[in-house]
This record gives sequence, C-alpha cells and structure tokens, in this order.
Amino acid sequence: MTRRPDGPGRAPDGQPPAPAPAGGSFLEMWRELLPLGRHAASRGYRRYAWTGADLDCRAWFADQAAARGLTYEVDRNGNQWAWLGDPEAGDAVVTGSHLDSVPDGGAFDGPLGVVSSFAALDELRARGTDLARPLAVVNFGDEEGARFGLACVGSRLTAGQLTAADAHRLTDADGVSLPRAMEAAGHDPDAIGADPDRLARIGAFVELHVEQGRALDLSGDRVGIASAIWPHGRWRFDFRGEANHAGTTRLVDRRDPMLTYAETVLAARREARLAGAVATFGKISVEPNGVNAIPSLVRGWLDSRAEDQASLDTVVDGIEKAARGHAEAHGVDLDVVRESFTPVVEFDHALRDELGRILGTDTGITVPVLGTGAGHDAGILSGSIPTAMLFVRNPTGVSHSPAEHAAEDDCAAGVLALADVLEGLARR
Ligand SMILES: [Zn+2]
Repeated sequence: MTRRPDGPGRAPDGQPPAPAPAGGSFLEMWRELLPLGRHAASRGYRRYAWTGADLDCRAWFADQAAARGLTYEVDRNGNQWAWLGDPEAGDAVVTGSHLDSVPDGGAFDGPLGVVSSFAALDELRARGTDLARPLAVVNFGDEEGARFGLACVGSRLTAGQLTAADAHRLTDADGVSLPRAMEAAGHDPDAIGADPDRLARIGAFVELHVEQGRALDLSGDRVGIASAIWPHGRWRFDFRGEANHAGTTRLVDRRDPMLTYAETVLAARREARLAGAVATFGKISVEPNGVNAIPSLVRGWLDSRAEDQASLDTVVDGIEKAARGHAEAHGVDLDVVRESFTPVVEFDHALRDELGRILGTDTGITVPVLGTGAGHDAGILSGSIPTAMLFVRNPTGVSHSPAEHAAEDDCAAGVLALADVLEGLARR
C-alpha cells in the first residue's frame, strides 16, 4: 500500500492540510460536473431523474467510462456501470453513488461518491495495483426521488424491493409516468425489474458520501465509516377541535386543536432530546385555514429517527402520550396514524471491520464509525449484498441545500481512503 504524509483520519494539529495526490483527476471531473443542472437563481441543483439535467450527468458518466477505457453498460433499470475487469467474472468490488439531486440540492450529495470512485480507480492504476477482482463504478438512478416521490428507485428495482408494476404507477407532478419519462430518455421501461443475476456477481458494494451531519467535524476526522442507518418513520397526527369565531369565542369556551398541536411540537423536541434522537414536525395542514377562525382540524406530520428501535419507540410513544394528555385537557380529539416505517439498516459487520482494518493499517489511526439518519442506495442493497459506506467531513453538516460543502483536502482524503479500501479488497 502506498505510504503518504497524511491519512484519511485526523489532520495533525497545527500542520497544513495534506496534499492531494489524487486531486488532479478529481478536480477536473468536479469542475466538469459542477455546472450541470445548476439553477441560475437558487444556485442549487435540479437534477431530477430522466430530465435533461439528469441526462447531461449521465452523458458525463459515460464519457468518464470511455475516457478510461472502462466497459460501460446501462442495466435494465437504467443504472450506469463502468467496469475495470470482466463484469461477468463475479465477486466484484463495486463503488459509486448517485448523480440526481433533491430540489435545489447541493453539489456533493451523490456526485462526491461518483467522482471519488473514478478518481480512486485512477489512483489504483497510478499505483499499479494488481487486481484479483473486477472493480466497477455505478451511478444509481433516481436516488433522491425528487420527481416521482419514491427514493432509491434504481437500487430498489435492482434489489427487488420495488416491483416493475409499482414503479410503472409512479407519476411526477405534471402527471408524466415513470415509464413515459424513461422512454422519452431513451430507456425501455418494459425492461425494468429485479436483477438478482447482477447482484450475484457483486461481492461488496462501498458507497462514499458526504456526511449529512457534523459528527466528523466535531471529532476532527476527515473520513468515517458507517455503522448503520437509523430506523425512521412518519406519523400523521390529526387534532380535531371546533371551528369558531376568533373574535367572539371566549378562550375558556374554545376547543382549539392548534394549541394541542403546538404543545405536541414542544413535546417532540423534549422527547427527542432526552433520547438522543431527532423528531420533526415539518409539514402541517389546517382547516378551515382562516386567519380569523379557530381551526377545526390541525394535521401535523411527524418524522422521527433514532439510533435503535427501542429509542425510536420511546420517543414516538412519549410524543403520542403527551399529545393525548394535552388533547384531553383542551377537549380535542386525536388520531395518530403511522404512514411509513423503515427499520434499522445494519451494514455488514465483517465488511465494516475490514474497512476499519484497511484504513487503520495504513494510517495507524482508528477511523470513526458512525450512524446516520439519512437513507442511501447502500442501505437498500445491504439486504442483498455485503455493503459499507465511507463518509467525508461536512464542516457545517448542512445537506440537501446549496450550502452543502466538503473541503478540497477532505475530498482528496476521501478519494485516498476509497482507493485504499478498493485496493485492500480487490488486490491479488
Ligand atoms: Zn445521497
């Protein structure tokens, strides 16, 4: 393994940041990708699945594969692959992420993983690593779900977690169905579906991603390894009271569901804080929604995520209990409906430990292992193949926003960490 002055972990105190030996190809690719799908006014990215901006990004991916002489293919679900070695050989080590974005997303969520993957391949070639396993870079389609409302469509289809029939029913805000959008972009929508043969040829998938939080910033590390994706769910709280005149109804005579809702929001904050979890009421609808009317109905949606199932149960049970107590005090009726739920995703322990060993051997540093509250293609695939993730420091933790950022030196550290991981897993 190539030695270098500084590894993926902690930068030595008071010393300048590490040089970027892999920076050449990374920066060139980064600059090419940067203008694609960027909205002039918001400065955020609008790279929605199968739109012109997405097709530009996909063309960029195909160009990168061609420029390196890699075997390029688009699978039945529209995911793009670039292979170094024989795609049919089996036990492949695959890395990559996604190029689509949320509305007005940042530059890093997704593209950092794809660009780093190509740069890591360049680094391995520069090292002259003798590979015993095929390597591939993948761009999973429609990860963010910004257009059709369901996240990770490309990986879900491949893993058989979304049927072709259900995918065919997805439509965007303009009423364009997913099959029509795929067809317009030149992809056969009748081909989509589970792809177990492809997954059977993959021995490990490693996704590098910008961290969507501040754990690495707080610990002073450049790169971390994912432990798990937190269990998360959405619950709808319907508070029903009595509509009445805002000017003439005495306070004591009111059955005001907005009051109960407000107390529930405070309870959510308190319960989440006590459990070390997160809980958010980010969406609300009010009836009759008049400025001079006491509401008859306040509907609020709770998103909550925690490190483990027991903590999440404690948080949500605590919020519901508080909401029921306040509802009773105000003469308000309450219904709580769980609308969606995703259990904890534990990344493959053996692969995770292997990554820690590979990165630790080179640097003598223990790379931090951290959980995340965000979903990823790696989480979808972890049900089918051994999967791991690397996170790159994000100094503010801001994500899904144009303010999302990772420093150039940290990106270079991420590329080297990924190159080390690929080399450690695939060399002869
Ligand atoms: Zn992402």
